[in-house]
Amino acid sequence: MDLRVAVVGASLGGLSVANVLQHLGAHVEVFECFPKGFHTRGGALGAVDTELVREIRGDAGSSGHRQIKGHGHFYGDLWQYFYEGLEEGTVHFGVDVQEVLEASSKAPQLLLSDGPREFDLIVGADGGKSSIRPYVTKKLPTYAGYTLWRGLVPTKGIAGPPSGSATIGGAEYQTLGFPCPGPEDTGTLWNCGVYMAIPEINVEAPTRNRQVREGMKKVPDWFIPFVRHFFGDTNAKFWEECSEKGKVSPHPVWELAADRVVNGRIILLGDAAHMASPRTGAGAYTAMSDAVMLGAALQREKTLEEALQIYNDDTVKRGQQLFQQSRQAASYFAPSGWKPVSPAKLLEDALLRRKAEEAKSEKGLIKQFQGCFR
Ligand SMILES: Cc1cc2nc3c(=O)[nH]c(=O)nc-3n(C[C@H](O)[C@H](O)[C@H](O)COP(=O)(O)OP(=O)(O)OC[C@H]3O[C@@H](n4cnc5c(N)ncnc54)[C@H](O)[C@@H]3O)c2cc1C
Repeated sequence: MDLRVAVVGASLGGLSVANVLQHLGAHVEVFECFPKGFHTRGGALGAVDTELVREIRGDAGSSGHRQIKGHGHFYGDLWQYFYEGLEEGTVHFGVDVQEVLEASSKAPQLLLSDGPREFDLIVGADGGKSSIRPYVTKKLPTYAGYTLWRGLVPTKGIAGPPSGSATIGGAEYQTLGFPCPGPEDTGTLWNCGVYMAIPEINVEAPTRNRQVREGMKKVPDWFIPFVRHFFGDTNAKFWEECSEKGKVSPHPVWELAADRVVNGRIILLGDAAHMASPRTGAGAYTAMSDAVMLGAALQREKTLEEALQIYNDDTVKRGQQLFQQSRQAASYFAPSGWKPVSPAKLLEDALLRRKAEEAKSEKGLIKQFQGCFR
């Protein structure tokens, strides 16, 4: 296949499609704005389809990489596995793609720091904050009404994982986690989360470099007291240790099902095309499936245009299914009719109520005590 392909983004989606297209004989170049690879990036995927992963790498049927497992997979290992499947020099790190020129031509150009470069196909695998998306669709992500606070910390010496839930004002607040392999020098990590309804006013739209407002950049003062009050002391101790010895970061949940993922020779893949709650456990899986679907359509169809049309229809459909799964998750964490109340305010109200109850029962005790002496 004599195609010049540019892939923007070298995360799981970008490396998957680069593997698939390279096996089909395309000339693939991947441009990633981060200065280096993600082999030590923390975090885990709940479940991994090992057959899909091997198919992407071209190892289908073999035992594949010994570290590719079905559950609790460390992101960095999977990334490395895909990276090693590519020809040397395929990925260019530290290249921040800003613009596409001649977007509607059959040879669109990527504007790179050394000038424009022409390709036959541009794949936007640049995630939820995609710069390529506006060249394909006007559809924008919408906020799901809640945020996942993710915690990563070595398991050594830290009792966990946390587990607890509370229903407040009709919304479910939940903390949970599981162990996963970490980078070699760290060992096993607790990969944990707190799902928390948070009003949209406290988060930022998923544009480059902006996720949350100032008050949520560090672990906010109310976070540990909130966990203590609603999930108990053991969970609070875990999150305290996690924020001191590991990393706690907020991930506002945004959702998107694009109405189209192909516009001429520019296409979207992964989170650039569809965004869903981490609770679905299917975002990375869907990005990998997109890559495999694109490869299959290119192999089967006679022309590039026909293959891209099939890719568009299939990916839009799967994106809509993922979106529905994500909406289902939102019905627990930010149900329709939920009145946006910040966790800080909920905590303040709960503590005031507790104080009032304590004062009332103290009064009652005093009365009882006085009664004994009448
Ligand atoms: C806390 C959390 C837990 C999750 N758990 C799971 C799970 O268990 N299972 C699952 O399947 N999914 C899970 N997901 C979802 C999954 O992480 C995403 O769906 C997946 O990473 C999407 O991959 P992607 O390659 O499309 O985009 P991304 O991973 O977002 O990668 C986009 C890449 O593009 C690069 N980039 C962006 N803009 C540019 C530019 N202009 N120029 C060059 N490079 C650029 C970025 O630096 C990045 O490397 C989880 C997500 C979160 C937040």
